[in-house]
Amino acid sequence: MTNAPVRSVGVRGSNHKENMNIIGILTEQTCGEACWHAHEKECRCSCGGRNHGILNTPDGQRPDRMCRMNGHVYKLAAVGGHDDLHAKACEINRQAGYSYMEPASLVADGQQMEATMELAARLRAEGKDVWWSQYYGVWKTTEEGAPARVRYVTPAQLSGWTEVMAYQGPTDGGSALLWVREVMPDRPAILRVDKQTGLPMDDQNPTRCW
Ligand SMILES: [Zn+2]
Repeated sequence: MTNAPVRSVGVRGSNHKENMNIIGILTEQTCGEACWHAHEKECRCSCGGRNHGILNTPDGQRPDRMCRMNGHVYKLAAVGGHDDLHAKACEINRQAGYSYMEPASLVADGQQMEATMELAARLRAEGKDVWWSQYYGVWKTTEEGAPARVRYVTPAQLSGWTEVMAYQGPTDGGSALLWVREVMPDRPAILRVDKQTGLPMDDQNPTRCW
């Protein structure tokens, strides 16, 4: 980052009689423990000074743990076992809809053609085996930009992240983190259609995910 925006923010806390002026220099550096316990006046991470030294004050709220994956911002939603978190991530991904949807085409007696309702009706009336074919994608928990992703806990997190160290629950499948996107990806503009009728389906979410 060359033209990093600089702003000054006040950090409030009961042991601060007056606001301490922090110079926040917004960078790509992930905000974390170092920032939350910082004492120097300059903040150089993704919070832009908002969380700087926040845990040094008695009433300072622990900030959400954020990370950036492939350019997308995620918030830590849970610490746990991979098996459990993978199931949770799958459900979040499913409810976020399809990752992509291509226009449907018509298949009549095994031949693919550009689709119109009239054509479908006519071919069906002629006794042809007619159905609507459509390519689509569902979000995977390992996929770039997915609404929810699961990552194994790294040794650094295991010895440095309070929420990871504090976790006492089951870790079936291995210790893992559930990350959920701050801004959900847009749903495809094209709707999924019913294989038989060619009409948009009521439920525009996949039945399952991977
Ligand atoms: Zn920060």
